[in-house]
Amino acid sequence: MKYILALDQGTTSSRSIVYDENLKPLASSQKEFTQHFPEPGRVEHDAAEIWETVRTTAQEAVAKAGIDARSIASIGITNQRETVVVWDRRTGEPVHRAIVWQDRRTADYMSALREGGKEPLVQSRTGLLLDPYFSASKLHWILREIPNGRERAAAGELAAGTVDSWMLSNLTGGKTHATDVSNASRTMLMNIHTGAWDPELLALFDIPAPLLPQIGPNSGPLGTAEAGFLGTEIPICGAVGDQQSALFGQLCTKPGLVKCTYGTGCFLLVFTGPDAVTSKNRLLTTVAWKIGGGPLQYAIEGSVFMGGASIQWLRDGLGIIRSAPEVNALAASVGDSGGVVLVPAFTGLGAPYWDAGARGALLGMTRGTTAAHIARATLDGIAFQVADLVEAMQKDSGAKISALRVDGGACASDLLMQTQADILGTPVERPTNIESTALGAAMMAGLGAGVWRDMDALSEIRSVERRFTPETAAKSRKARLKLWKRAVKRAQKWEISK
Ligand code: ADP
Repeated sequence: MKYILALDQGTTSSRSIVYDENLKPLASSQKEFTQHFPEPGRVEHDAAEIWETVRTTAQEAVAKAGIDARSIASIGITNQRETVVVWDRRTGEPVHRAIVWQDRRTADYMSALREGGKEPLVQSRTGLLLDPYFSASKLHWILREIPNGRERAAAGELAAGTVDSWMLSNLTGGKTHATDVSNASRTMLMNIHTGAWDPELLALFDIPAPLLPQIGPNSGPLGTAEAGFLGTEIPICGAVGDQQSALFGQLCTKPGLVKCTYGTGCFLLVFTGPDAVTSKNRLLTTVAWKIGGGPLQYAIEGSVFMGGASIQWLRDGLGIIRSAPEVNALAASVGDSGGVVLVPAFTGLGAPYWDAGARGALLGMTRGTTAAHIARATLDGIAFQVADLVEAMQKDSGAKISALRVDGGACASDLLMQTQADILGTPVERPTNIESTALGAAMMAGLGAGVWRDMDALSEIRSVERRFTPETAAKSRKARLKLWKRAVKRAQKWEISK
């Protein structure tokens, strides 16, 4: 038996999972790490601490699985995207804390670029919209912040990369400075049509080329983990950004197949194959993956800021539940929201609205409204936001999706999934293994190491645990959507200065 080790480096924790060659998970280990909030709107991670959690969870998972590390055929990496690390090539030490995707410190810098008319260029090259979310402005900021940053970068003294690069460098003892196309496509520095760093974008963000990693495929030989990691050298044959990994783990490998991850936020991706479709509805075009020497493959992506986080607000902000799963019993104690609508625009609205000034709104309350109605409206609010993304995606692709494949922590809620099916008028499929992110990385790693010959060998691994079919008539579905749209209008542009 051969084994695969998936390293899943997330925003709040790192997790390692050992899979056997049938992709059955044998053992896992997970560790949280520190979130640093040095100022409002700033979010940082200590890259050394991230690496430490990756290393120790990997060692623990292998020990728990009770396998000999020499039987691990391949390591696969998946990671929080956009977060950027800069380190000294000679010492391997980070020169600044990692700036996390959620960090908004470069908002003004990006607004100035937008006002300077740079968005069309950036969108046509990268598929992205000018927003501090992506790595480029964060990297620009670090180079200005540290002494002689730009000069040291130009002289090749510094190395930078997203978290996959940082992990590859540490795994290989500094031998490999590389990234994969899916992660590189989120930096705003790669031309997604060629898969290479774009000189014009490097000039725009003032990033010296010697700073950047080499861009490689998602699957294939990417480097070798040193013996210091698990006691023996192990090939690294997979690396992929977390959302693309979940798309692959859900086997959305035919154009038109869609997955939605319900975590803190919700991430909807539709695979579009070798066509990089430019969204007309303000969704993002992104590289899905490149397998070995194959062509670049693409996806359209839309995300919701407040997914499971809305449920956390019921727990921590309102205090009407003690734990996230309690939302389900409370919401199910009423037949519907009693006309209450929650627009969870607590941090503004993302795609397709992109309204940073929108704020949360709770509408339609009467004397009869209870905590249960609000809980129900919260689940509805998550489903409505995802429905808006699906609608935008269908407009872009011109085709109606046949089913939504779901994963992530909040997809455990049967009520949320049924509500989603009802609001979409489309079946929702929940797989047996909802750990799609780690699974995708393991699949990339196994394919890259030749554990399986091709994708066909993998088509067997996906099994649906439950399929939620729409139970609402089209008429009442439309009425609910209309009410939601009216509520969104009330929540929009609340902070009028933004
Ligand atoms: P992330 O990877 O973003 O940290 P997860 O995929 O672990 O998120 O999902 C966590 C989210 O799922 C939390 O926001 C929580 O509110 C929600 N959640 C977890 N379990 C349930 C449940 N049984 N019902 C509803 N929501 C849940």
